Amino acid sequence: MTAQLIDGNALSRQLRDNVRERVLTLRARGVVPGLAVVLVGDNPASQVYVRNKVKACEDTGMHSVLEQYPADMTEADLLARVTALNNDPSIHGILVQLPLPAHINAQRVIETISPAKDVDGFHVGSAGALMVGQPGFWPCTPYGCMKMLESIGYNLRGKHAVVIGRSNIVGKPMALMLLQQNATVTICHSATPDLKAMTLQADVIVAAVGKRNVLTADMVKPGAVVLDVGMNRTEEGKLCGDVDFADVKEVAGYITPVPGGVGPMTITMLMVNTLASAEHMLAA
Ligand code: NAP
Repeated sequence: MTAQLIDGNALSRQLRDNVRERVLTLRARGVVPGLAVVLVGDNPASQVYVRNKVKACEDTGMHSVLEQYPADMTEADLLARVTALNNDPSIHGILVQLPLPAHINAQRVIETISPAKDVDGFHVGSAGALMVGQPGFWPCTPYGCMKMLESIGYNLRGKHAVVIGRSNIVGKPMALMLLQQNATVTICHSATPDLKAMTLQADVIVAAVGKRNVLTADMVKPGAVVLDVGMNRTEEGKLCGDVDFADVKEVAGYITPVPGGVGPMTITMLMVNTLASAEHMLAA
């Protein structure tokens, strides 16, 4: 059996077309959705990520502001910038690119972002809203995974989903979103003694670890849906996920590739969240 591919690039294009149309509607009413991206320091990967986010704003007709600061910026100065952006009516979403330099308390910075503009969904208020099923911003990567499941018409009710990884930005919110859709959810992590015993029971597997080949074909039930969040490099420097794609695609029912899977969905969901924020503020 060869799995069907869930194409994150194609789905992103569809979703961005919808965002672009809704941006035009807002613009006609005098509102241009705006995203502020704040980068502290010169981490090369972060520079690529923020550039892609700014490009996605341009692509969808949104306004973006990229604020770049030196690595020795003080925490107090960063908090002051975030507060200024909270009070700026042209900004509907604020994203502080992580990781931050070690002398800055990242959690304090995230908690300073207004929950109304927390389009990354990392604020404790957003996390709490997801936990209790209240409206709020969902973290973009697991939100993108949910959109991928929706795109194949997958009904999670009564299904067993296994999430590998329990980070605050991917694994935990992923598990809560799956639970909200009535899946039975198992969360695995580095202290899970027999990962294979868990994944073999799964109808849906989300791999969010950051290690190559964490999920191999012998760990997958035939026909399962496999979503690969991981971003790793091969010895040759090529981007790859956590899943042994070549072999797992022969067992799974659906699978996301890396690159071209969850990655493009993450930035697209950031656009969706920023747009939703602008729409919400206009309606308020
Ligand atoms: P993270 O904070 O490092 O979390 C990794 C999780 O994997 C931890 O919960 C860890 O368990 C668990 N883990 C480690 N080794 C394991 C093993 N052998 N078996 C089972 N679980 C294991 O990473 P993250 O931020 O969630 O990101 C995960 C991956 O997704 C990374 O490759 C990252 O680059 C990628 N990512 C991609 C996107 C995208 O847009 N595609 C977005 C975000 C992240 P413990 O908690 O016990 O340590």
